[in-house]
Amino acid sequence: MPKPKLFIPGPVEISPATYEAMCAPMIGHRGSDFEELYSSIQPGLQQIAGTDRPVFLSTSSAWGVMEGAIRNLVQGKVLNLCCGAFSDKWFDVAQRCGKKAEKIQAEWGEPIDPGSVRNKLAEGGFDTVTLVHNETSTGVMNPLDEIASVVNEFEDVLLIVDSVSSFSAVPIPTDQLGVDVLLAGVQKAMALPPGLTVFVTSEAALSRAESTPDRGYYFDFLEFSKNHSKNNTPSTPSIALLQALDSMVASIMEEGLEERYRRHHENNALVHKWMEDSGFAHFAPEGFRSKTLTAVANNREIDVPAFVKALRIKHNFLINGGYGKIKGKTFRISNMGNETADSMKELLAALSDLLPDFL
Ligand SMILES: *Cc1c(COP(=O)(O)O)cnc(C)c1O
Repeated sequence: MPKPKLFIPGPVEISPATYEAMCAPMIGHRGSDFEELYSSIQPGLQQIAGTDRPVFLSTSSAWGVMEGAIRNLVQGKVLNLCCGAFSDKWFDVAQRCGKKAEKIQAEWGEPIDPGSVRNKLAEGGFDTVTLVHNETSTGVMNPLDEIASVVNEFEDVLLIVDSVSSFSAVPIPTDQLGVDVLLAGVQKAMALPPGLTVFVTSEAALSRAESTPDRGYYFDFLEFSKNHSKNNTPSTPSIALLQALDSMVASIMEEGLEERYRRHHENNALVHKWMEDSGFAHFAPEGFRSKTLTAVANNREIDVPAFVKALRIKHNFLINGGYGKIKGKTFRISNMGNETADSMKELLAALSDLLPDFL
């Protein structure tokens, strides 16, 4: 079968310019060519990440840094804010790292309530909070600014934010919000091949790490910080992915962040209009819907796996038939990365072409 065009919420479609950038000649990672590459990525990436701090580059999927953040920051007890597959898993990962963890569990499809975070933190004993900004499994975008300001009410409680599927698609003023670790795997909103994660750490996060034992080596934030001052990474990075990142950051700067945010908003609205016109309901409540993907509730009770399969066979597009326990009860359509109004309309026309056969 030919490879379909990806409208799944990650990995997403890769542009020819990105593939080309990845095919540039290999360079050594301890030398001036690499230092140039590393430092050329920084200013744009800092703008995207809403920070004046360094943006570290980890050759790992997002989970590497998600686990690493726990191992670097948690000394007492972590509060995991859970509302879907990725945020729920983080609670499990914290425990697997041998940390004391408690969670707030929202129903899948609901956002985290900032008031419940305040009440829980007021019980005391917590030094870290984890939040998934855009819960890719449910299409819920959590109220980051409100939650960050609640966490900031508590001195010595650090906030770790996963923005894997929102990074560069909506503004995230990391420094201004007082986020202590912001991380994003690049295969979703950044539209690069998987295997690389970018992350920012606050001064407070680095000073916490200094006194946290058993941080390991590969994800030790202090190693990243030390190497950053030499425009380098602790171990050999995926240089091809960094070349791709350099090219992508340049293209995002050329498009302009405001324009990129607007494009995502508009493309997302096209999908919303299609699903509403087709008689489907949203899985996420109004005001908390992702701008980069749409989780469609299967209230029309179509055969989702058959629908997804027919779309691939007839139109060569791939969408996602729901994640984990909400497989079949939802399906998900991504508008991440380089999609345009035209490319989204092409997908939606294909969905409209097939839908009558499934009702
Ligand atoms: C995909 C995803 C992850 C996991 O990323 P990996 O790159 O597979 O480690 C984590 N968080 C969110 C919100 C995601 O969408």
